[in-house]
Amino acid sequence: MANLIEVKNLKKYFSTPRGMLHAVDNVTFNIEKGKTIGIVGESGCGKSTLGKTLMRLHNPTSGQVLYKGADIASMDIKEFKKNYRSHIQMIFQDPYASLDPRMSVLQLIEEPIKVNNKGMAKAEVTKKAKEMMELVGLAKRLEMSYPHELDGGRRQRIGVARALSLNPEFIVCDEPVSALDVSIQAQILNLLQDLQRDRGLTYMFITHDMSVVKHISDDIAVMYLGQMIEKCPANEIFKNTIHPYSQALLSAIPIPDVHLKKERIVLKGELTSPIDPKPCCRFAARCPYATDKCLAEEPVLRELKPGHSVACHFAEQFVK
Ligand code: SF4
Repeated sequence: MANLIEVKNLKKYFSTPRGMLHAVDNVTFNIEKGKTIGIVGESGCGKSTLGKTLMRLHNPTSGQVLYKGADIASMDIKEFKKNYRSHIQMIFQDPYASLDPRMSVLQLIEEPIKVNNKGMAKAEVTKKAKEMMELVGLAKRLEMSYPHELDGGRRQRIGVARALSLNPEFIVCDEPVSALDVSIQAQILNLLQDLQRDRGLTYMFITHDMSVVKHISDDIAVMYLGQMIEKCPANEIFKNTIHPYSQALLSAIPIPDVHLKKERIVLKGELTSPIDPKPCCRFAARCPYATDKCLAEEPVLRELKPGHSVACHFAEQFVK
């Protein structure tokens, strides 16, 4: 299958009083059409900034984001909004914060349709918004309800309906279930998977929760301090985690079996500063296997076996 999205050497730096914060640093990956890449990592690893940079909510410092071959990272923002914004949408973590509390459910879903279809008749806008409500499982009786009257799951369904109302091909899902109860999380994940199957959608699914991402992803990429440090097919990472940081991240997932014993890897050491970082392994200060080479040379993401890439000088030693 062809790649819908190709990200090449993408960087997003922010100027701070203490120096340049490398929020996203030289990130490269592809997403095939109709597939999902899960982006995981601790809070502050740059995964949300990566999503927002793909959406052009941040302008990239350098690098390319190719959507069907067109570089949406460097094109004029007006051209992006006019020709590409509707194809690339985002679902946010906190639906309550992203919804205008003064608007009813129907109005909230009508809003992006109106903005992106100037001249569309009011009746047509309403018809499309009602279709979207049905598509995402929002009952007709909720049309005139307000966000504060709904539970988190229904509010997130509004977010999904708003994103889908523009017929996108690619959706960045930024922690879409982390604010929801576990039972409601499953409903939203199932909804996203059904929509992907029926509409051929392509997702980038950002989360800090490995147990969520394994249910929805085809590929998983692990980020640490702005860099992608491991990328592989989803089932491979759970069978053969290679990077020492990914091993620690996975060891924290609870297993629902009292007979299975799994040792949790507790990381020690200080987090390296992402401000003007030195050219070394950014995980070296917390890595139990660090050597002088790790403190002097930055490891690059390299393919160890088909589809499985790792950024670690000694990755071969950690292959099971
Ligand atoms: Fe650890 Fe060195 Fe590998 Fe970094 S490069 S993960 S410090 S062994």
